[in-house]
Formats: sequence, C-alpha cells, structure tokens
Amino acid sequence: MIIEFENGRQSTVDQIRDLAARFGLAIEITSREGVYSTIHVIGDTREFATREGYLRDLPGVRATWRVTSDFKNIARTVRGADGKALRRERRVVEVAGPDGKQRRFGAGHHMFVVGPDSPQTLEQTLAIAHAVREVGERFGILDRMMLRGGAFKPRTRPTDWRGLGMKGIAMLDRAREETGLPYVTEVMDLNLVPEIGEHADMLQIGTRNAQNFDLLEAVGRFGKPVVLKRGFGNEVSEWFHAAEYIANQGDLDIVLCERGVKTLFTKGGYCRNQPDLNALSYARRQTILPIIFDPSHVTGDHRLVPENLLAACAHLADGSITECLHDEGFRREQLCDAGQAILIEHYAVVVEAVLAFEQHVAPRLTALLDTFEQRG
Ligand code: PEP
Ligand code: MN
Repeated sequence: MIIEFENGRQSTVDQIRDLAARFGLAIEITSREGVYSTIHVIGDTREFATREGYLRDLPGVRATWRVTSDFKNIARTVRGADGKALRRERRVVEVAGPDGKQRRFGAGHHMFVVGPDSPQTLEQTLAIAHAVREVGERFGILDRMMLRGGAFKPRTRPTDWRGLGMKGIAMLDRAREETGLPYVTEVMDLNLVPEIGEHADMLQIGTRNAQNFDLLEAVGRFGKPVVLKRGFGNEVSEWFHAAEYIANQGDLDIVLCERGVKTLFTKGGYCRNQPDLNALSYARRQTILPIIFDPSHVTGDHRLVPENLLAACAHLADGSITECLHDEGFRREQLCDAGQAILIEHYAVVVEAVLAFEQHVAPRLTALLDTFEQRG
C-alpha cells in the first residue's frame, strides 16, 4: 500500500510506522520536493489494508492506494489501479562487519564476495580468509570485501561430501574473527535458519532452493540480509517472485544473484551453466534490489572466471560472489567444486581489472544508459 502525505507531518509518519510494525511490516519513505511525499508499506499488507479508513483520516494524509503491480515489494516502479505510479530508489543492502565497516551492496561500486566453495579444514579456511583480506588491503577496498563459504552443501548425489555443517560454521566464525571480514553462507533447512543466522552475517539461498517457499519465508522472518540465487531453471519472473516471498515477511535486505541457467546448449560441456547477463540489466531496471553475479557456478572452470566476472561489470553488476583457492596443491584435496576455484593471486588480477573498469569505463557506460532511460 502507498500512502501520500504532506511533508513535515512527522507524527503522522510515526503513527503509520507504528501501525505497520504491529502487523510485522516495514515502511519505505520516498521524500519528494514540494508538498507531498509517499510511504510504501512493505510486506503482506492484506490485513493492514483493513485500516485504510484510519490511515486516510490521519492529519496530512492525502491519499492511500493499493499497489496492483505484480512485484509489490521489490518493483522499481509500483503502480496503483488508477494508473498512479511511484518510481522508487534502488536499495542499498548493508552488511555490518566485525571490523566496524559496512559492506554496501548497490552503493555504486562492485562488492567482492570471495572465499572457498566450503570450509573443509580450519587451515584452508583461515589461509583463504587471510589471503582475501590481504587483497582487500592491497587495493584499499576492505570495506568492499566479504567472505563466502558453504558449510551445508546441496549435492546432486547423496553420496558426495555434503559439507561440515555447524563445524564449518565455526571455522567461518573463526575466519571472521581473525580477519574482521563478514561472511555469507548457505542455509538449506528452514529449521536451521535461526541457528545459522545467529552466526552468519548474511544468508544464502542456493539455486536448488530458490523456490523452497517455506525456507524463503523463514529467512525473510529472520530478517538478516540475504543473497538469493536464481533457480537454474527459473524464469526471471519466478526469481523475482521468490524475492517477494522474502520481502513479504518485511525483509527487503535482499541481494539477487545470477549464477547461470541450464539450457540446451550447456549440455556439450563447454561450460557448467549459461550466464544470463541480460538478466542483470533487466533486474537492475525492474527491481530496487542490488544484483550480483557468480562467475564460478556459471562456468565450472577457474580459467573462465576472469572473463565472466568482467562481463558482469559491463552489465553494471553490483558485485560478484566467487569461489577461490589459496594454494594450487589444495585443488586435488578439495571435495566440492575444485575445478572452478580461482587461485587467489589470479583473483587479485581480476580485482585490479574491475577497479580499472570502474574508473575508466563505468562512468561513460552509466552516462549512456542514463540517456536511454531518460528517453524511455
Ligand atoms: C555455492 O554457492 O556453493 C552453490 C552451491 O551455489 P549454487 O546454489 O548457485 O549452485
Ligand atoms: Mn560451489
């Protein structure tokens, strides 16, 4: 629901916020110059809407209108029945680090999420975490770096190694403690959301669970920032609806992640999945959510990671999530996704290229895309 109100009516805003909170909803204020601003109530507003009469009578409220767009919570432009439209700002999703720095997705720079496929030994986990930190320090971008690592692994074959579970989480905790870098980790079981969520700084929904609706809602209720991967067989609209499941619980701290889809053409084996780069551009235009790219699961081959990651930059991705390796010798011992882990020193070269892109190419590209947008 959208509520239009007269600027300067702080007590009305407070009353709306309080009422929304009672229904477990959040509000987003879009301030406008001039007389009126708008409040967008986030979450499942069906019950809240029964109070429309009360809301209309609050001092300074000009109108209330129901959003009729398909993606009520995440759409960049939300529309009402009579054609009214509200163009929203893109959202910045913040992840706090124990080092006191905020990692900001969607803030106009590339976020580098990087780490092992999974924590396998403490030594390996710490070696990677320290190497990642070193790269961040070298380029002065520690506030743009985060760790990744799946302790609970979704595997195609039931007999494959499925991660260390909570022991792996303890290793990631230790890596965070030693480096100050926050981490994201996958959660597969809705019953484990509170336990894992208490440790992790950000939760990941993997491609196989992209339409596990109970899990999506549990993560949304928990309220921590989420990376939502696209299901490998999902249309873009199905992916957006998955995000709506999280947002409907009042959690808008969602980062979308394109990780490639299965197509007829990936069967030849030249790459693991097909990167749908245009989905990045589409999601940027259609939703308020930051969007990142996973060059590791897209390719399945560490030699293809650099060019894929850079291609996502050309689509103005808000970041990337990449699997890496600290030492070539460990590749043989790695129990999951060994072939796609890029050596951290090679990753550092890619980081340098991304920073050069941001400095020299992105401003020109952004200016050009702005021209297209203004033309409509
Ligand atoms: C992962 O990030 O390790 C992972 C399993 O990714 P996806 O769900 O995209 O396959
Ligand atoms: Mn993996």
